[in-house]
Amino acid sequence: MIFDTEETREYRHHLARWVDERLKPKAEELDHSGEFSFELFREIGELGYLGTMYPEEAGGSGLQQPYTCFTILCEELARASVGFAAGVCMQGSTATHTLYAWGDEEVKTNYFLPALRGEKVGAFAITEPNAGSDAASLRTKATKTDGGWLLNGTKVFTTNGTVADFITVVATTDPTLKAKGLELFLVDTKTKGFSVGRKLEKFAVHCSDTAELVFENVFVPENRRLNNGAGSSFLNAYQALTVDRIFTAALAVGVGRAAYDASLQYIQERQQFGKPVGQFQAVQFRQVEMLAKLESASLYTYQAALLADQSKDITREAALAKIIAAENCNEVCHMAMQNYGGWGLMNEFPVQRFLRDSYFPMVGGGTGDIMRMIVARQMGL
Ligand SMILES: Cc1cc2nc3c(=O)[nH]c(=O)nc-3n(C[C@H](O)[C@H](O)[C@H](O)COP(=O)(O)OP(=O)(O)OC[C@H]3O[C@@H](n4cnc5c(N)ncnc54)[C@H](O)[C@@H]3O)c2cc1C
Repeated sequence: MIFDTEETREYRHHLARWVDERLKPKAEELDHSGEFSFELFREIGELGYLGTMYPEEAGGSGLQQPYTCFTILCEELARASVGFAAGVCMQGSTATHTLYAWGDEEVKTNYFLPALRGEKVGAFAITEPNAGSDAASLRTKATKTDGGWLLNGTKVFTTNGTVADFITVVATTDPTLKAKGLELFLVDTKTKGFSVGRKLEKFAVHCSDTAELVFENVFVPENRRLNNGAGSSFLNAYQALTVDRIFTAALAVGVGRAAYDASLQYIQERQQFGKPVGQFQAVQFRQVEMLAKLESASLYTYQAALLADQSKDITREAALAKIIAAENCNEVCHMAMQNYGGWGLMNEFPVQRFLRDSYFPMVGGGTGDIMRMIVARQMGL
């Protein structure tokens, strides 16, 4: 790829080996069991991948192109299992970024560093039963009390929610302020008043843990309100959430690549009318269409990551990358299903899993409609 450097090539090379040897052979089993894999999660932590985004002095990998490398991490893991990749993507970016940026020594020692080592699992909870795209209308309330804050409310769809040791919770200190009243609170899941409402069963990304969480007078000490002292911490954290759209796009590219590769192999092996189905022009054209969609998704995603590494404004590029990659790769997975014929519907082949999982990047981190709203605003509309 034209965006590659020695660092990114090396990063992908080592990671791809781990994915092929460790994750790929377990991907089907994880999809069936729907369990979060602590074993593989810890391995990824021990290998240092959860520190990809952070400088060496903070305990991270100290890479020159952290955003591009994290994009590679999301893509490579998703090539084997989008469910596993989603949990790692959450841990290595959204769940740890504000701890790194605004956490004090206590937060860094007890949560951030163990998270980078894969010893503690993190989550980030903003979505509520009645507040999804319209995040500013969320109702989880933070009330000031002696030495800290009390949280009350319910969150849904929280990735890593039932297995998390700590969760960054977005809550309002004053609902009349809308987005400006939103603050970030680091909750230790052992705190009294916190409970998992239920683990949510879902159509896609089975082994990515998804939960409903309940907060009843959960005490958060003042030092765990994550804030840089310049207004709403949620609005200040927005840049970190923006870059996550590139990582979600990378999940789509990963699963799109898996579907493309599986289909290419299948159409060369499957024989009908005395020859491989890949010799029929209709099938060939579909495979070429898949490549065109996959390559444009990949190029746009890595261009956005490169701009992020250059500290450029990526508001438009990250949203566009997510639209292009999520929608293109969902179509790639559809076409792979067509090339497999009836076998595509059978659980013994992974293409049905790829198609199911390819719906996640279209919703996670904001729907395609919301991405279009962001781009329209950037156009001045
Ligand atoms: C598997 C999974 C994991 C997730 N993980 C997390 C997590 O870890 N933490 C977290 O906080 N959240 C998480 N989410 C939540 C995710 O971010 C939301 O699902 C997403 O933002 C959409 O919100 P919603 O589901 O409430 O849909 P809604 O906002 O109710 O949207 C319903 C429909 O209306 C459309 N719509 C809404 N508003 C507009 C508008 N203004 N203009 C045009 N169309 C509009 C949407 O595009 C959609 O088609 C996760 C979701 C999933 C599915």
